[in-house]
Amino acid sequence: MTPPAEELAVDSIEASSYTVPTDAPEADGTFAWTDTTLVLVQVSGGGKVGTGWTYGSSAAVALVRETLAPLIAGRTFLDVEDAWRHQVAALRNIGRPGIGSMAVSAIDCALWDLAARRAETPLHALLGARRQTVPLYGSGGFTSYNHRQLAAQLDGWLDLGMARVKIKIGEDWGRRETRDLDRIRHTRELVGPDIEVFVDANGAYSTVQAVRLTRALEDIGVTWFEEPVSSDDHAGLREVRHAFNGDVTAGEYGYSLAYFRHLINAEAVDCVQVDVTRCGGVTELLHIAALAQQHGLSVSGHCAPYQHAAVLAAVPNLRHLEWFHDHVRIEQQLFDRTSTVADGELHLDENAPGNGLRWRADAAEPYRVA
Ligand SMILES: [Mg+2]
Repeated sequence: MTPPAEELAVDSIEASSYTVPTDAPEADGTFAWTDTTLVLVQVSGGGKVGTGWTYGSSAAVALVRETLAPLIAGRTFLDVEDAWRHQVAALRNIGRPGIGSMAVSAIDCALWDLAARRAETPLHALLGARRQTVPLYGSGGFTSYNHRQLAAQLDGWLDLGMARVKIKIGEDWGRRETRDLDRIRHTRELVGPDIEVFVDANGAYSTVQAVRLTRALEDIGVTWFEEPVSSDDHAGLREVRHAFNGDVTAGEYGYSLAYFRHLINAEAVDCVQVDVTRCGGVTELLHIAALAQQHGLSVSGHCAPYQHAAVLAAVPNLRHLEWFHDHVRIEQQLFDRTSTVADGELHLDENAPGNGLRWRADAAEPYRVA
């Protein structure tokens, strides 16, 4: 390969990580946490800096610095797919699912941002976006919340014009069904009849339990039952899907196109959830969305809303994007932003180059861990 002209070459790739405490203890059906770690990648070239990130372990920082960055340095940042292929090939004996794919995702998002900034165009325009807005749904409703905390959060989402809201259920690995149902009914009472109510069990229930619960969920008008059973249990998901008249969904732990092929072929979901910070970045998300499209399925973005906005605007079969409380808080604290939220949608800036974000190093420094 001819070396790229100097002005189109990647000069440097820097990785760092930041652990930010939650504003209150957070828990779902199968996990509890009090802080969240953001792994940041900044790629420089052509006098610009591209930014991408993932949420996971600081171990991803070492993987970027030691294994992936040397592969990309000096390569052109305009051929992001080529850089992506070299990174994925390098993970063969390290492992792609998990941290490997998260590191690639952050780099890939940073490279796409850099390519757009170099072209002085918004990233969503570079990707051929069909829209300037991305529909959102409010997401949080942690099992660790009391009714007052839940009510305050729901109010905040309604103020933003959200037409759909999601709460966590399956508390204590599905051992607290009565409280789960109380909290869903409480949510329905608070938002009224016209707002869609979604629930996410994070794989907490057994198949027979989830199937049984579908009757009560339908009575309350729940239209989205996310990970009723483990997302690794495709047969279980399919069984719940046949029992439930709303959508059964999964995909947030998908780290490659192949994972989604298996999930879709198993007829396990009604809507494919995809996470650009895990699946392999913008490059792989576009492949996954096309695969879903081929099967007549829509796509919903999982978490990291500001990282998703540009690429999802370019996905024709997009349903919506998750406005996840924990990540919204972190991203609004650590980035200056040009997009705005109104009428339950994220409105992209038509003029800001790249992803329209600026990392606030000063605000982030107190949280830095690597
Ligand atoms: Mg989920």
